[in-house]
Amino acid sequence: MTNEATTALSPAHAELLDRFRDGQRAALARVISIVENQREGFQAILHELHGDTHQARRIGITGPPGAGKSTITASLIRRFRDRGQTVGVIAVDPTSPYTGGALLGDRIRMNEVAQGEGVFIRSMATRGALGGIAAATREVMDVLAAFGFDIVLVETVGVGQSELDIAAAADTTAVVLVPESGDAIQTMKAGLMEAADLFVVNKADRPGAPRLAKEVEMMLHYRLGEGRSDVPAHHGVQLNRADTARAKLAARKRLEGGADAAADEGDSSTSKSKSTGGAEEGWSIPVLLTSAERGDGMEELVDRLDRHGAWLEASGELERRQRARLEERVRDAVLQRLLALTWQESEGRDILERSLDALRAGEATPYEVADRIVRAVGG
Ligand code: GDP
Repeated sequence: MTNEATTALSPAHAELLDRFRDGQRAALARVISIVENQREGFQAILHELHGDTHQARRIGITGPPGAGKSTITASLIRRFRDRGQTVGVIAVDPTSPYTGGALLGDRIRMNEVAQGEGVFIRSMATRGALGGIAAATREVMDVLAAFGFDIVLVETVGVGQSELDIAAAADTTAVVLVPESGDAIQTMKAGLMEAADLFVVNKADRPGAPRLAKEVEMMLHYRLGEGRSDVPAHHGVQLNRADTARAKLAARKRLEGGADAAADEGDSSTSKSKSTGGAEEGWSIPVLLTSAERGDGMEELVDRLDRHGAWLEASGELERRQRARLEERVRDAVLQRLLALTWQESEGRDILERSLDALRAGEATPYEVADRIVRAVGG
């Protein structure tokens, strides 16, 4: 039993990383493919890059298909480039079987954002993401950050849990809605409300946009009004997204950690002021109106994204989100490692297969067999 294999870089990958660090885009594309498809040695590559992954600002843009996410993304890219910032983009469509630079990336290209100097766009889909689309997205975000992009943008289609997990990998998440099709109601169902640091009601040139914006604001107030007295009566709504993230983490700890977890949970639910790093002010979730195609409202969006970034840093929330993400990464890595140890690198599978007759005959129980397997792994 050894962990060496996980972090030992092959000579070929060492050479690849030299070219990556030299800023070669072909090397970047290759590294992304290896990581996205979890090819042999991908952990060693991520292990090598880890130290370089903390600088980029991570922004998520999510919402239903056709809401204008690609149009907004293209517009943001142009604005970030105008200020001299470099941008790496991942366009994720968990519903699509296609991957590797087609799809949304093409649409963004059609929107006349040059895939040239300072911009790199990559599409990802379910296929090929063996460890789950959310995990693959997080890791590809790391690769883009390590390459040195100032901003890493991830654009996802809002379809449920995987997409919420992807949103959680961003520092700032913008949820894009459109007047058509009762989006506000769907948003509540999908849990997007918790994921949003800001809302964008796009296609404001169409009827119904202001009403939708009002509806979203009302829902935010209603949602937060439950058990909260600090909701302002006017524009914007106070919500610490980490409250939700923390609750999720606590639930997971409870599942995995037994008694300790209960103590952690108690702590997190009573330590709001501590958890915001001493910042008195929370974040007021804005609901913005844009007409991305015409560029209307985009300056305001950029400004709010900037302000959220500043708030994250000043309040200590950025650090907290980063810590929560890292904790999750280690937990995932441990789980993957244990699964490999159990089913590939020990007698686990043999013990299981040998036990099936006894299990059927009622002479052994699944719990005994599990105990035996865990002992064989070394637990
Ligand atoms: P995505 O699927 O969310 O990425 O949406 P797209 O960015 O591809 O946009 C879907 C369609 O809506 C495209 O035909 C866009 O041209 C159009 N669109 C985007 N923004 C606006 C807008 O502000 N107003 C109107 N009327 N159409 C828009």
